[in-house]
Amino acid sequence: MKNLTPNQIAMSASAIISVLVLFVLLVLKNYFVENLPWYILLAPPLAALIFGYAIVYYLLEKFIYRKIKLIYKHIHYLKSAKGSISKNIDLNKNLIDSVEKEVTEWEEDRALEIEQLKKLEEFRKEFLGNVSHELKTPIFNLQGYIETLIDGGLKDEKINLDYLNKASKNIDRMNAVINDLDKISKIEHEQMDLELVKFDVHELTSEVFNSLEMRADLKELTFSFKEDCDKPFMVRGDRSRIREVLVNLITNSIIYGKEGGKTLVGYYDMNDNILIEVTDNGIGIEEKHLSRLFERFYRVDKSRSREQGGTGLGLSIVKHIIEAHTQTITVRSTPEVGSTFGFTLEKA
Ligand code: ADP
Repeated sequence: MKNLTPNQIAMSASAIISVLVLFVLLVLKNYFVENLPWYILLAPPLAALIFGYAIVYYLLEKFIYRKIKLIYKHIHYLKSAKGSISKNIDLNKNLIDSVEKEVTEWEEDRALEIEQLKKLEEFRKEFLGNVSHELKTPIFNLQGYIETLIDGGLKDEKINLDYLNKASKNIDRMNAVINDLDKISKIEHEQMDLELVKFDVHELTSEVFNSLEMRADLKELTFSFKEDCDKPFMVRGDRSRIREVLVNLITNSIIYGKEGGKTLVGYYDMNDNILIEVTDNGIGIEEKHLSRLFERFYRVDKSRSREQGGTGLGLSIVKHIIEAHTQTITVRSTPEVGSTFGFTLEKA
């Protein structure tokens, strides 16, 4: 029944009515009016067929199909506005079937969209909470130092320089958070125009090693290349952005590395891409944290990160940069053994 068009339903209904009328007339002829002429016998069923068809068709169109068509058209155009389906519709072809299919698809799409919106809303709330928390702490500290200095501390030789230095550190901290947030917001608004060039990633790593050497020395940590990796590896990418990625990963290997530890960088040829791995033998990360590590403000060891001036945004910036290159980044880690961060770049 649901596969019939209004035309077919009206025809079937009028045929049934006319058969019923004919049956009643035959009963009349057999039992009550024996000499009923044939044209009297045929005229009412014929009339029932024609009028029945017209009335049923009219009622169906007026009360059911027009309304269904309206819903169907609405959903169909809503979907086609998003470019998912063709704009041509045949309203007489298996209408109910099509409506059922379109409504189900539409419902599924909406449910998915609502789910995504809910997640985004959660994410937004969490993000705002994190930003205010990150800024509140240094502002609170600053207030404390400055008020103490104003209330006479400025003349106290024992604390004045110390408090000014501490205030300055808190300003640096706020600056670091704001700079990283600025980077993220630029990246997210697609203002990251990549300047793709061919360069030697091994040479770039050596440059980064040199720039971070002093920091590594403080922990007696050494930098080196994995076996067969101390040679050029040509890739295509935005050199200064990839430098930022390497600085971030290698700085993390120092912050979360052990005294006297090692940071190794290796390159692996993967046909179209080069896989670059930064490995340390530091504190490592428990499995349960790995999937959230690239989220903004996610930190495993909050106090260690803050102590070292970490904003908790480094890895999320790294991920954005790698994804802007349409490449991937992954992490493997074992607590107390160490971590390996690996990302790919197009081979040049
Ligand atoms: P942060 O500024 O806190 O270093 P990141 O986004 O760079 O922020 O890193 C997020 C968290 O991931 C860090 O707080 C730390 O807990 C963990 N992490 C990152 N790199 C390493 C590593 N090499 N070894 C152990 N933990 C790491």
